[in-house]
Amino acid sequence: MKIGQGWDRHRLVQGRPLMIGGIEIPFHKGEDGHSDGDVLLHAVADALLGSCALGDIGTHFPPGDPAFKDADSKELLRSVAEKLLTRGYQVLQVDATVILEEPKLGPHISAVRRCIAEILSLPVEAVSVKAKTAEGLGPAGTGDAVEAYAVVTAGEIEEDQSLYL
Ligand code: MG
Repeated sequence: MKIGQGWDRHRLVQGRPLMIGGIEIPFHKGEDGHSDGDVLLHAVADALLGSCALGDIGTHFPPGDPAFKDADSKELLRSVAEKLLTRGYQVLQVDATVILEEPKLGPHISAVRRCIAEILSLPVEAVSVKAKTAEGLGPAGTGDAVEAYAVVTAGEIEEDQSLYL
């Protein structure tokens, strides 16, 4: 069993979609970033890479690389999950927290969990996503940024299971 953790923060700016866990959340601001800026999927991807000591998403998908301009972070996460599989590990569970002053994420949490579960081929019960505000403090609290933390567990693929990958 391996454990990985990830963190990400993106500035919130006008004229960008607010992408959280693969879902576009209606809001007048969104994440600045080279890719689509999906802060939650980036934290989860870093946690997956961390579980197998495979570096971080910045090394696998360099921010200066035009190939990843406005990249769909769902594809980045899928590709990271495949990197684990090729090393004989599969993600087993995700627990994540998004810190965002507004809008309220509560109504979108189940869609976000389903989306992450689908990307990682996990049952939705294995994907936990929580949302918190920062009580007006720090860059997330003032609405200038959104942050996400993620912890994952990964396990070795059984030999008989790997035949089906
Ligand atoms: Mg990021």
